[in-house]
Amino acid sequence: MLKGKTALVTGSTSGIGLGIALALAKQGARIVLNGFGDLEGPQAAIRACGVPVTYHGADMSRPDEIGAMMQYATQQFGGIDILVNNAGIQHVARIEDFPPERWDAVIAINLSSAFHTTRLALPAMQAAGWGRIINVASVHGLVASAEKSAYVAAKHGLVGLTKVTALENATGGVTCNAICPGWVLTPLVQKQVDAKAATLGISKDEATRQLLSEKEPSLQFTTPEELGALAVFFCSAAANNVRGVAWNMDGGWAAQ
Ligand code: NAD
Repeated sequence: MLKGKTALVTGSTSGIGLGIALALAKQGARIVLNGFGDLEGPQAAIRACGVPVTYHGADMSRPDEIGAMMQYATQQFGGIDILVNNAGIQHVARIEDFPPERWDAVIAINLSSAFHTTRLALPAMQAAGWGRIINVASVHGLVASAEKSAYVAAKHGLVGLTKVTALENATGGVTCNAICPGWVLTPLVQKQVDAKAATLGISKDEATRQLLSEKEPSLQFTTPEELGALAVFFCSAAANNVRGVAWNMDGGWAAQ
C-alpha cells in the first residue's frame, strides 16, 4: 500500500516509534529512523521487511539538527511523504519541584520538535498533493495526571498543533492526525514501573498491576503493533477525509 513512499519516524530506535516504523515498512514504505541507543537491531528489523532504511541521529531538542535531518532524508530518498512525530521523554515531579531545565527539555522534544519537522515537511507534501503527518500524542493530550505538568502541557499542545495543521491543509491531500495511547510497556513506562516498585517497596509485577488499575479500565497495555496498525490506517485512502482527530487507544482511560 505504501510502496514508493518515504516515512520519517522520529524517536524510532525503540518502543512505539519502532513499532510504527515496522508497520509502515511492512506496507512497503522506505524508512528514515531517528533516535538514540542501539541502531543495528532496529535497522535490521526494517531491512527484513524488504525496504530501504536509513538513519539520522538528530537530537529532537535542537532545531538546527532537525533541519539537517530533514535535508538528509530528502537527499537519501527524494522527499518525505509520511512524517511521524513520535520522539518523547517524560519527567515526573510536582510543579513546585519540577526542574525548569526538564520542563524545557520535555516541551522541546515532545512539542516544539513536531512544529519544526512539520514546517519543514509541509511545502514538499503540499507541492506533491499528498502527505500524512501523524503526531504521537498521548491520552495525556486529552486528560491530565498529577506530577506530569510538562508532559501534559506538551501533549495537549501537540493535539492543538495537529488540529491547526489539519485545518491549514483541509482542502489538499495532506492530512494530520494524532494518536493518543494509554499505557504501552516501553522503556519510557518501564522506568515509571521501576520507580513505583522502588518507592512503594513492592515487586515490579505488583507495580505494573497497580499502574494499570489506577487509569486503564481494560487492565491491558496497548502494543506498538496496535499503534502501528492505526498509523497504517491514517496513511490509507480510506482515511483521506480523517483530519485533525486525536484518536485514543487507551483501554477506556479517557472514557471515565
Ligand atoms: P521510548 O523511550 O521507548 O522511545 C522514545 C524514543 O525517542 C527513543 O527512540 C529515543 O531514543 C527517542 N528520543 C528520546 N529523546 C530524543 C531526542 N532528544 N532526540 C531524538 N530522539 C529522542 O518511549 P515510547 O514509550 O516508545 O514513547 C514514544 C512516544 O509515545 C513518546 O512521544 C511518548 O510520549 C508517547 N507515548 C508513550 C506512551 C507509553 O505508555 N509508553 C503512552 C502515550 C504516549
